[in-house]
Amino acid sequence: MKHTKFMLSEKEMPTRWYNVLPDLPEPLPPERHPVTKEPCPMESPLPPPLFPDAINRQEFSTERWIDIPEEVQDVYRTWRPTMLHRAYRLEQELDTPARIFYKYEGTSQAGSHKPNTAVAQAYYSKKEGVRRLATETGAGQWGSALSMGCVFFGLECKVYMVRASYHQKPYRRSLMETWGAKVVPSPSPDTEVGRKLLKDDPECPGSLGIAISEALEDAFVHDDTKYSIGSVANHVLLHQTIIGEETRKQMEMADAYPDIIVGNVGGGSNFAGQFIPWIRDKISGKKPDMRIICVEPEACPTMTKGPYTWDFGDAAGLAPILKMHTLGHGFIPAPVHAGGLRYHGMAPIICHLHKLGFVEAQAVHQTVTFEAGVRFARAEGIIPAPESCHNIRVAIDEALRCREAGESKTILIALSGHGHFDLGAYDEYLSGRLQDYEYPKEKVLAALADLPQVE
Ligand SMILES: *Cc1c(COP(=O)(O)O)cnc(C)c1O
Repeated sequence: MKHTKFMLSEKEMPTRWYNVLPDLPEPLPPERHPVTKEPCPMESPLPPPLFPDAINRQEFSTERWIDIPEEVQDVYRTWRPTMLHRAYRLEQELDTPARIFYKYEGTSQAGSHKPNTAVAQAYYSKKEGVRRLATETGAGQWGSALSMGCVFFGLECKVYMVRASYHQKPYRRSLMETWGAKVVPSPSPDTEVGRKLLKDDPECPGSLGIAISEALEDAFVHDDTKYSIGSVANHVLLHQTIIGEETRKQMEMADAYPDIIVGNVGGGSNFAGQFIPWIRDKISGKKPDMRIICVEPEACPTMTKGPYTWDFGDAAGLAPILKMHTLGHGFIPAPVHAGGLRYHGMAPIICHLHKLGFVEAQAVHQTVTFEAGVRFARAEGIIPAPESCHNIRVAIDEALRCREAGESKTILIALSGHGHFDLGAYDEYLSGRLQDYEYPKEKVLAALADLPQVE
């Protein structure tokens, strides 16, 4: 009998997150204050207290293992542990000697990995007496995850949703509203930042950077409100390590160890959550030749084309300045369907690991990603999120390379979510209407002219 699914019982769910910061061979460059541009003190990384204290501490923690609170574990168990699958049918279809596994995060109630951190952030906020959380969302995945987290812990949730998606993806908005959130298109008339942009351009399609600025402003002006972020920050990556910690146990059940791990990166949280628990074997020299491949869209090629420098996390310059690959905080990417991958920057931890040579990066065009996604769906049944189609593309290419070389490598795919709210995009692909966007060199150069001056 072929063993196709590797399941952990609820009792076997890991109860600690893994913090890579103390294990980095060189320390991570500290975040900088958006106004003074000085390194932020560890204890209060931001001028007004934007995040709950527990989150601020986690952002810079030097502890290797951080206990997942019981209350968070209880909510995690409503959908976790998630499944690890062996993709026998895809292997057969590709006629490859490679062994392909995928860890599927699409079975959470919100359909992606994002509730792993949303639930934790809502819990810590509630515990510290916060009444309301403000956040941004692009295509709506993060907004829906946080709406769910907030409703589980009795918090109000205000979501600034990138205007282009607000109109393109009405059902994600319905999902958020069903969970009780208040959703407005960004730029919105509810903030100073939004009003100014709307005055200049009433049709402004918005961007993730702009929506972050609005949510930050909301938290600045409301005493009972904290800001919550869905990716990029160290604490978000920390919460996502539950994915890789589970996968390590499951790969052991499968008697396998990955030679190649491949994931998509928007702000980097789902993929870091998968690979960080493995990279300690690479850092320690136990598995030096393991390849960790970050995949991004050609239309928003942060890691492959953006310089590694200092930039704001948001469009208006309210967020901390981070050392990261960036296309410039004012950059507005083309409307590719992988909404979760349209961010100008990248998690500093991933950029640092990239600089140190532990991870690599590739950019792909969207048409070939959907081709791969459809191939995957026809073999395995699951309809991947457009974001996940990016790394499925690269995984298939690696598996085909194994066929040419007659090598049986073990490939692990981080499958971040399902594409049930993205069938319009599949429709465009299937009817031949989907287009690719070239690397927007001029727009990137213009945006890079506006980087903050640091040092
Ligand atoms: C948000 C999202 C992403 C990209 O965000 P990361 O922080 O890079 O993980 C990828 N896949 C799905 C399904 C998402 O919802």
